[in-house]
Parts: sequence; structure tokens; C-alpha cells
Amino acid sequence: MNRSADSGSTQDGERDSALSEYRRRRDFARTAEPEGAADQGSGEGPLFVVQRHIARREHYDLRLEVDGVLKSWAVPKGPSTDPGDKRLAVPTEDHPLDYAEFEGTIPAGDYGGGTVLVWDTGTYANTTAKKGRRMGMAEGLEHGHVSFELHGEKLTGRFALNRFRSGEKGEEEAWLLVKERDSAAGADDPVSTRPESVRTGRGIREVAEEEGRTLKGRPRDEEE
Ligand code: MN
Repeated sequence: MNRSADSGSTQDGERDSALSEYRRRRDFARTAEPEGAADQGSGEGPLFVVQRHIARREHYDLRLEVDGVLKSWAVPKGPSTDPGDKRLAVPTEDHPLDYAEFEGTIPAGDYGGGTVLVWDTGTYANTTAKKGRRMGMAEGLEHGHVSFELHGEKLTGRFALNRFRSGEKGEEEAWLLVKERDSAAGADDPVSTRPESVRTGRGIREVAEEEGRTLKGRPRDEEE
């Protein structure tokens, strides 16, 4: 029996069930977002991406590769490099790894309809620990605390995510994203100074216009 093939298929099965909500929410005949059929690890360490997303409300989607999928949070104000800023981060469904490259428009009226831009991406190192004991990302997420060092173009250094509302009793689960104190803390605020895509250099308006759509994903020749 081939152990590695066996564990591989188990992982595929877990990934497929983790992505069922992602797939249920989308019609892949309409949106150019990836289906996540054949995810491969980057090989250089786990991926992170922050995507700026103009939807019903503008927000930044923070995604961290954990166990073959992108764990995801919507951060309305985007990340801050100031350790004094606590940024609300609301969990959203797991996304496939190849979503990290997605930049473009989602048709208005579809789930997440609007424009997406790859605002920052790179790899990260898990620095989560509890009482001096190192902890895996999945375990840390279960416990409601992870810390990680980002190696991006705009974001570098350590950040933490802390759950402050469990999501039980019908309330919305909520976390806070905060910069930890290190040499990268307090840098220029990249949300305001560097709005462009790190993938294509485009601004958000260019992404939409080049696909003949408005920022909210409507065809440009239709009345707004
Ligand atoms: Mn989003």
C-alpha cells in the first residue's frame, strides 16, 4: 500500500469538504473565480494573500494557507502596521489555494459581486505559541489565537489574529487583526499609500474597466 498516495487522497477529501461552501455559493459558468479543482502547495512555505474587494461594502480579504485551503477573513478597514490599531476581521468560507491569484470582476448580483485586486501576497511563517509551546495553525485557529510573520511586498513582520466573539448563540463570529511589535511596526500605512495590485500594478478601477465592468461588477454599457 502506498502510504503517501493514501494520505494524499485523505487530504484531498478534507479539502473538498472544506471547500463545499465556497463552491455552493458560486456559479462557475458565470464567474471567473477558480473552482479549486487541483490545488498544489507553493513549496516555499504557506501562502498568504490580501485581496482588496469592492463588493456591497469595500473590504480586504485576508487569506492564510492552512491544510490545503485558504482560511479567510474579511477585514473592512484592511490591515494596519500600527500595533495600536485593532482591525475587525470576520471569518468567511475557506477558499481554494489558487484563489490567491484571482484578480478581476465578479458579476453584479452574484455572491461577492464586484472587483477584486491582489493587494499583497507572499508566504508566511507560523509563530503561534501558547505558554512557550509552539502550536500548529489549525490548532491555534481552534483555540482562537494565531500569530504569523508575513513575507509580502507591502506587509512584513508579525501579525496576530485573536477571536473575541465565538459565533455561538446566533451572533457573528469575530476576530481582531493586529500588528505585533517588531522592526516592521509603524511603517507607512500601505492601505492608503499603496493601493495598487502587486500582481499586475493596476489600480482597482483599471481592473474593472479592462473587463468592461463597473467597480460593482455591472456591465459598463448598462445604466448604473
Ligand atoms: Mn470579499
